[in-house]
Amino acid sequence: MDANRQDYLEAVLATLPECVAIVDRNFQLIDLNKAGLKMIGVEHFDDLPEGAPISLISQPYRDAYRDALKTALSGAKQEKNKPFRIEITAVDGTHHLMDCCLAPLADKNSEINAAVVTCRDVSEWQDALEAAEQSSSILQTILAAVPDAMVVIDEHGLITSFSTAAEKLFGYREAEILGQNVSILMPSPHKEAHDGYLERYLRTGEKHIIGIGRKVEGCKKDGTIFPIKLDVGEAKIGDRCLFTGFIVDLTEQQRTAAELQSLQGDLMHASRLSAVGSLASALAHEINQPLTAIANYLSAARDMMDQGVEGNEAHLHEALRESVSESLRAGNIVRRLREFVAKGEINRQILSIAQLVEDAMTLGLVGAYDKGIVCTTNINPDTNHVFADRVQIQQVMVNLMRNAIEAMEFSAEKKLEISVQSIPDKRVEIAISDTGSGIDPEMADQLFHPFATTKGSGMGLGLSICRTIIEAHEGTINAEPNPLGGTIFRIILLKAAEEKLDVE
Ligand code: ADP
Repeated sequence: MDANRQDYLEAVLATLPECVAIVDRNFQLIDLNKAGLKMIGVEHFDDLPEGAPISLISQPYRDAYRDALKTALSGAKQEKNKPFRIEITAVDGTHHLMDCCLAPLADKNSEINAAVVTCRDVSEWQDALEAAEQSSSILQTILAAVPDAMVVIDEHGLITSFSTAAEKLFGYREAEILGQNVSILMPSPHKEAHDGYLERYLRTGEKHIIGIGRKVEGCKKDGTIFPIKLDVGEAKIGDRCLFTGFIVDLTEQQRTAAELQSLQGDLMHASRLSAVGSLASALAHEINQPLTAIANYLSAARDMMDQGVEGNEAHLHEALRESVSESLRAGNIVRRLREFVAKGEINRQILSIAQLVEDAMTLGLVGAYDKGIVCTTNINPDTNHVFADRVQIQQVMVNLMRNAIEAMEFSAEKKLEISVQSIPDKRVEIAISDTGSGIDPEMADQLFHPFATTKGSGMGLGLSICRTIIEAHEGTINAEPNPLGGTIFRIILLKAAEEKLDVE
């Protein structure tokens, strides 16, 4: 080899990032390029530790190295140039994993007396690989352990992970669902629309579910459609997008809520029956009054007819008209009573609150007049309408009116005022004020708790039921002292939205 060519080769070897070594038949190192010296941690070839490179190779890898070297020196090429791995300990004690390739080196006479060893430091790759394997196994552990079902999809909606809880919830094994479109887990119409939702999000960035959380429906492998809460998060990996969906099964929650609602309905009904029971004698009296009046008018009419109708037409007419009106009054009480004790489904409709309060007074004020109670009403017609259940709101009104009447039993002044007014923010306030005993201070902070009562025969359920009803109507109920003495109960309800009124 001429001197120029020698220099040229040395320059090339010096710039190579891989380590290149030449080893002779005695396994002695004859030459090592710059990258090799650097990896071992010395500046010059002469500084290499004794016995290098074998002395630098970790014990378990030495045989493999020797075998590969023997093969190369025998002139055989390494199998498909497949690298083999060794571990080198540098002079500073650091370990380097190297992928090595060996090739025979022939001299001028075509005799093979040495081999070229090229090595690439793969320690960093190995670390990265181990880290990736570790994080993948951490991810697997997380996926197996998260109590909520978790489904990860790519930007095409294809499932890339399916947690153990998701397997249990949907009935698919991870292996059979990976790579399938996530729409398989949804019922129509979302099933058909989901690709469009994804495409729209990726195009516009508009979030309709990501980070918001929705109650939607899922579809199991056996076709069962069930309620779920879905929270979707987004992860960006380079320019790829992954979406993680956390799914909570709401089946049990909804069943419990339905059972609770049905029990509450039973309790409210029982409470209405009990209220009517306690009103029985006052009600009998209330119905008896118009019946007695009718009997009186009719007997007067009969007497007039006995005396001859002529000249008595006007009186006769009036007696009959009064009889009609009294029978309507009695009929009205019976109708309200029937409506009140009926056990129906909750049925919210657009109702006139003014009318509702007036109707509730038919039952709520039964017997009040006889107890010396003076009732005034101040019902502003501009308050209409509310979206409410008629019987439930009447139950609240009747309960508050009966409590007020009872609280005024021993009061010198017995004034009951019922007012219905509009207040800001499209709300309506119903106030029921009495001049009774006022709230017992010991009762004040548990007024609306169940079984809180100061009455010997009271159940203490009335106000707790009132609050349940009003809160189910998105309203509030509170009590405060009446400046005139006694108590004011205030109920605030939302007015029915304009669009609902249009439907009416
Ligand atoms: P009950 O009437 O069976 O006691 P409620 O829940 O309707 O059950 O009422 C609970 C308690 O609240 C009553 O026992 C009473 O002490 C108090 N209360 C309710 N309304 C009034 C009122 N208008 N004035 C004074 N105290 C009242």
